[in-house]
Amino acid sequence: MARRRQLFEGKAKILFEGPEPGTLVQYFKDDASAFNAQKKGTITGKGVLNNRISEYLMMRLAEIGVPTHFIRRLNMREQLIREVEIIPLEIVVRNVAAGSLATRLGIQEGTRLPRSIVEYYYKNSALNNPMVCEEHITCFGWAATQDLDDIVALALRVNDFLTGLFLGVGITLVDFKIEFGRLFENDDMRIVLADEISPDNCRLWDTKTGEKMDKDRFRRDLGKVEEGYQEVARRLGILPEAGIRDMKGPEGLQ
Ligand code: UDP
Repeated sequence: MARRRQLFEGKAKILFEGPEPGTLVQYFKDDASAFNAQKKGTITGKGVLNNRISEYLMMRLAEIGVPTHFIRRLNMREQLIREVEIIPLEIVVRNVAAGSLATRLGIQEGTRLPRSIVEYYYKNSALNNPMVCEEHITCFGWAATQDLDDIVALALRVNDFLTGLFLGVGITLVDFKIEFGRLFENDDMRIVLADEISPDNCRLWDTKTGEKMDKDRFRRDLGKVEEGYQEVARRLGILPEAGIRDMKGPEGLQ
């Protein structure tokens, strides 16, 4: 396949021009970074797994009517997506206290929250993605009040659906980060789920043992990082058919 023009390279993905106007190709790398790229590494096979996991979750979400940028997976590391105008916000939804919430507010990691919390972060790595509130978002024009209403409603639907989906395979969805974009069609604009949903941007704990199966294994040097991602894919029933070269066979985390 002819190499397409590269438009953007991020920490974990590369975007290429798509085959038709209004489409892009999203390529998943094995590169991993944490703490705003202060920690860098490679997780072998991560790109292949995240491509699959994100495809699976976006497709399931589309089935319940959540609009997404996903069109179809092209190969082991690439998927075809709709070109959207990314809204510069990282939307975090939390069900259990962990990470920055636990640290900032002194809440014991693992405490179940009485209700889900939605947080907004301004997507700007030069500023270290600062947490912002609705006032900042509308004041600086990152999103209109109506857009934000749509975003929160979609984020909560995603949370409810994914919480149930993961619980069904013995995984607790602790928290996750998602991004949205504006999709322009004719004279209409719709807000759609964009980016990816994978163990890079979710906290996923084994419901019985509490074992972490997400990027915290990398962030916190817990070891068996690829095995964690692989276990998520295995439980969702989507281990790639041709991943033998890239990945070892499924192993437990213990
Ligand atoms: N997250 C992310 N990208 C970021 C920051 C956070 O994908 O730049 C995800 C992270 O994986 C977790 C959730 O958002 O699932 C909440 O992260 P938190 O605010 O606790 O920050 P962290 O502890 O990861 O720095």
